[in-house]
Amino acid sequence: ERIPLIVANWKTNKKVAEVYDFLQEIQGKLPDANKVKVGIAAQDIYLHEMVKQSKELKLPVSVIAENVHWADEGSYTGETSPAALADIEVSGSIIGHYERRKMFKETNGSVGLKVTASLRNGLIPIVAIAEDTTRYNPDDEDMAPLTEIAVGLAGVDRQRAENIVIAYEPAWAIGAAETPSLEVIEHAARVIRKSLAILFSQEVADKIRIQYGGSATPENSKDILGLEDIDGLLIGRASLEPTAFLSMVNDAI
Ligand code: 13P
Repeated sequence: ERIPLIVANWKTNKKVAEVYDFLQEIQGKLPDANKVKVGIAAQDIYLHEMVKQSKELKLPVSVIAENVHWADEGSYTGETSPAALADIEVSGSIIGHYERRKMFKETNGSVGLKVTASLRNGLIPIVAIAEDTTRYNPDDEDMAPLTEIAVGLAGVDRQRAENIVIAYEPAWAIGAAETPSLEVIEHAARVIRKSLAILFSQEVADKIRIQYGGSATPENSKDILGLEDIDGLLIGRASLEPTAFLSMVNDAI
């Protein structure tokens, strides 16, 4: 009953002409939105046009930001407010991506504020957690909730929590050549869902989608999407090219 969600994370790539080309390229090629939801995360400057273009081309695509501020308005030079994103009909934002944690000092504290601000504005927060998979022991079912989830989501309103998406992206698999084994991914996803159940409730945890991200490709997407607790992908490099992206979207059906 969790409809899979496949999201392209274009990061700091593409010029405006390439954005248009991509959207035109996928026109008429996406599966029914009742079977799989599709999102594209891009640099802020493209989002408004992408929303308009998606409508014009009738693309079943959610336009997503790669970061968002926690305040709806005010004096925060250089930031993009969640209210402004909602105003131009952006659907959500990635929050706490590993690259932001590492290079831009994002913390679990700011992630929490941004998740709350997103939910308040009707945006879907895609919360990326990058904890090192070497900590996981597949035999240990009772391990403590992951700190990134516990701290990042502690203040979130339980009523709205089911709209959160978690992207499990092991730091070492991002921009790399390899993914963790299927066993490790499934175990991590199970631990994450367990943590969500402790934090919110089992009912809410069962509704939250958990994506995998980190070197997902058309070669491994089908196997990863076949895992019981994985409900989608957050795709970097392989999402830049329409054919590869479409093939991975179709693997979710
Ligand atoms: P790659 O798919 O390029 O490894 O990037 C993963 C990622 O960071 C998606 O958010």
